[in-house]
Amino acid sequence: MVASRSDLGRDEIVEALTSLVGAAQVDTDEQQLREASVDRFKKYSAVHGIFDGPIPAAIVYATSTEQVASVLEFAQEHRVNVVPRTGRTATEGGLETVVENSIVLDGSRMNQVINVDPENMMVTTQCGVPLQVLEDTLRAQGFTTGHSPQSKPIAQMGGLVATRSIGQFSTLYGGIEDLVIGLEAVFPGGKVSRIKNVPRRAAGPDIRHIVIGNEGALCFITEVTVKIFTYQPQNNRFLGYLVDSLPAGVDALRRVIVDGYRPSVARAYSEEDAAQHFSHFSQGRAVVVLVAEGPEPVAEATERGIQEIFEQVPHEVVDSALIEEWFDNLNWGQDKIDAEKEQMLHGARLGYTTEVSINWSGVTELFESVMRRVRTEFPRASDLTMLGAHSSHSYQTGTNLYFVYDYNIAVAPRDEINEYHIPINAIVVEEALRLGGSMVHHHGIGKYRTPWTEQEHGSAYPLLKGLKHSFDPQGVMNYGTIYPAE
Ligand SMILES: Cc1cc2nc3c(=O)[nH]c(=O)nc-3n(C[C@H](O)[C@H](O)[C@H](O)COP(=O)(O)OP(=O)(O)OC[C@H]3O[C@@H](n4cnc5c(N)ncnc54)[C@H](O)[C@@H]3O)c2cc1C
Repeated sequence: MVASRSDLGRDEIVEALTSLVGAAQVDTDEQQLREASVDRFKKYSAVHGIFDGPIPAAIVYATSTEQVASVLEFAQEHRVNVVPRTGRTATEGGLETVVENSIVLDGSRMNQVINVDPENMMVTTQCGVPLQVLEDTLRAQGFTTGHSPQSKPIAQMGGLVATRSIGQFSTLYGGIEDLVIGLEAVFPGGKVSRIKNVPRRAAGPDIRHIVIGNEGALCFITEVTVKIFTYQPQNNRFLGYLVDSLPAGVDALRRVIVDGYRPSVARAYSEEDAAQHFSHFSQGRAVVVLVAEGPEPVAEATERGIQEIFEQVPHEVVDSALIEEWFDNLNWGQDKIDAEKEQMLHGARLGYTTEVSINWSGVTELFESVMRRVRTEFPRASDLTMLGAHSSHSYQTGTNLYFVYDYNIAVAPRDEINEYHIPINAIVVEEALRLGGSMVHHHGIGKYRTPWTEQEHGSAYPLLKGLKHSFDPQGVMNYGTIYPAE
């Protein structure tokens, strides 16, 4: 727990917030506050009713940029820690309120799609629009954002930009950083900045990137404009292959990418990971999944190119209907979250993930060294029921590896995080950094990869630190996120 640095006590903070935004927008319900003190990093202890960290003073549901500005002005003046949130799907502790008497500033009621602009192929939304709602709105008009993280049914635009999220179709459309055209954000003290919507510019460094990925540690995102694309699912081609190993599958993906093809989906699963996703056809082998999309001639040519490449790779073809069917059930809505809660409550088992990135040349060593170290060094390795990995986002120069691990829990719920998730996560992060990769591909640093932020950035770390000093000199934005607690 970090002590409050505010000159105000808990009741005074609540009173001031109520007069700023109105009682209807300030929630002090004890259970809501307890649940707001953590995110899915501590999903297992939370489901067992354990909330050991400081409980926030209030949740403020802002309804306008002006209200966000007034809360941030108040917070800076009185040095109250602010934790921004929208969809609450965070997995790395970004929503944890580690400072006593924090304000949770919630943007989910700022939920209007402001403008669909089909001529300039962009859409502007408030931060609290769920991506699924935006997609449904756009698809009804023949468009798509091209952004499809597995959390699409719940995650909202502000959080998706704040975490540098990425979707399943990223090889064609890119991550959120490739999709954001402009935005509006409020900085500590209540300063509103709008970054205008232009196709490209060379007017100094790209200031969008101060905001994209800031994880609420520099500013609060209130509005976002992203690209839109023609939605033409009728042309999609689904391809699946059984291959010898994850490295063999990734090598095939590399050939597809470097030969110039841009399937929207390009994934390779290790045998273990494939067995949990594709048990009805994987036969104990590694699996590669691809989707070609776009205008029909492009989708057709991409499919043909991929098939030609796979002629050089030992493989067995999977029926494309099986791959299409798998995609239809991939995303996580409230139903799956509720089912997971039931499982966590009634069975002492859990699944977690750690995602990192690496150049092509390092993939095999990273995969093999993590698998070896977890199996031999993790003291509770005998409780593992699954350890595997997949590559799900590829680039000209490399790919991500998404390690997945399930285990039976042989300790009390409070101890799970330290006995299981944190040590396995540490091995993955250490190996990625040792081999020159990045410790985090798309979930954000949150509060649990901060011990490695400096190592991640090396001699460039002062640039990152400088942003905090410049924009949040009082340190009131999401203390302990991205920047290690001091
Ligand atoms: C089942 C599941 C599947 C997932 N799949 C993917 C995936 O495929 N790809 C992917 O990239 N991620 C994935 N995630 C992670 C998560 O969904 C993303 O990080 C998402 O972008 C978070 O959006 P959110 O609206 O839920 O944000 P929240 O959880 O509310 O917040 C996330 C972080 O952003 C900050 N933040 C939130 N709103 C704002 C704002 N308006 N201004 C400033 N900071 C803000 C918070 O302080 C926090 O640090 C998954 C998570 C789950 C639970």
